Amino acid sequence: MNIPVRDREEDYVNVNPLQTGGRTYPDTRKTITSYVDGYSVCDWCVGALDKTDKPPIQEFLADVSKFLGMDHTLPTNGCRESKYAVMHAITKPGDTIVVDGNAHYSTFVAAERAGLKVLKVPSGGAPKYLIDPEGYRNVIEVVKHDTGTPPKLAVLTHVDGSYGNVVDAKQVGEICRENGTPLLLNTAYSSGRMPVDGKKLNADFIAASGHKSWAAGGGNIGLLSTTEEWGEKIFSHSKDYTIKPLEILGCSTRGSAMVALMASYPYVKERVKEWGREVENSRWLVEKLEDVGINALGEKPRNHDLTFFNSQTLFEISEKHQKKRYFLYHELKNRGILGIKSGLTKNFKMSTFRLNRQQVEYVAWAFEDIMEKNPK
Ligand SMILES: *Cc1c(COP(=O)(O)O)cnc(C)c1O
Repeated sequence: MNIPVRDREEDYVNVNPLQTGGRTYPDTRKTITSYVDGYSVCDWCVGALDKTDKPPIQEFLADVSKFLGMDHTLPTNGCRESKYAVMHAITKPGDTIVVDGNAHYSTFVAAERAGLKVLKVPSGGAPKYLIDPEGYRNVIEVVKHDTGTPPKLAVLTHVDGSYGNVVDAKQVGEICRENGTPLLLNTAYSSGRMPVDGKKLNADFIAASGHKSWAAGGGNIGLLSTTEEWGEKIFSHSKDYTIKPLEILGCSTRGSAMVALMASYPYVKERVKEWGREVENSRWLVEKLEDVGINALGEKPRNHDLTFFNSQTLFEISEKHQKKRYFLYHELKNRGILGIKSGLTKNFKMSTFRLNRQQVEYVAWAFEDIMEKNPK
């Protein structure tokens, strides 16, 4: 099998939003090397993954609960499984839930698997695509009117993966509380990058993505946190195998991903304190690129490292360029930058997460240089 060596993080500046928060630390890589074998975290199994002390998974999960401002946490195979677990545990097929219009496809797929009807809170549309928390009130009213009861669940994408908008979760949570609807906060693009305190944000459940935002490698891993109030319902155990949590089918991720998440955790706890710097870097790049005709969509000023850009100028260059729509990919790669999908010129996403200022300046220079050398 010819699998090429991957050197994106070592040899390039990677701006792929999917990957910048899941880039592992050297310590993480060293630690997981001895855990790449199957069932590696089961050497000292005590019957369930979340109770394991060697390596200290139980202790880690307790600490994560505090870190996220919640009470109980379980590992999952990813953010999407965390969402499905909540839906499966507290709804019945045919129930209606409310979801923001910028939600990730996996929210809809999870709802479909759980047999749920989904009503969307639409975004304000182009160019900002803002989700107005008050929109939740309107849609909850619609559900009450149509079904006679409030929705069984509301899901909010704290930061969406298309425009990187940060929604006021606290306000959404207040509206949900007033209506007796629990709130599942999808933090795939927030927790692990920026400070998230679930109770302060009025969240009943938090779904997180280890491989997207907590510097976890070696596979897929997510987290599901909840409050004391919901703990029993969400983390109920099998009747016959009483140590096994039902919603993660007993144990979820069972190898290096679990260890990677734990090894990166001390770094993650520190890096969320530097969120201000991340936002500054993102804003700085947006300002520089807008000066040369590459415009940011989404809320302004930007409050997140992921930005959706739109550029008529780059598109016009591509039409004349020998490499056509692949020109931007090649020009950036020649300058040591990867992460924008090959073939895109007019609309693309970038993330500055964990780049230092020098690297962000370098990315800005690269775009300016490309535009200077390739007139439209
Ligand atoms: C990436 C992403 C997910 C999926 O996360 P997994 O951990 O891969 O399941 C869910 N929601 C949003 C908003 C995302 O950006």
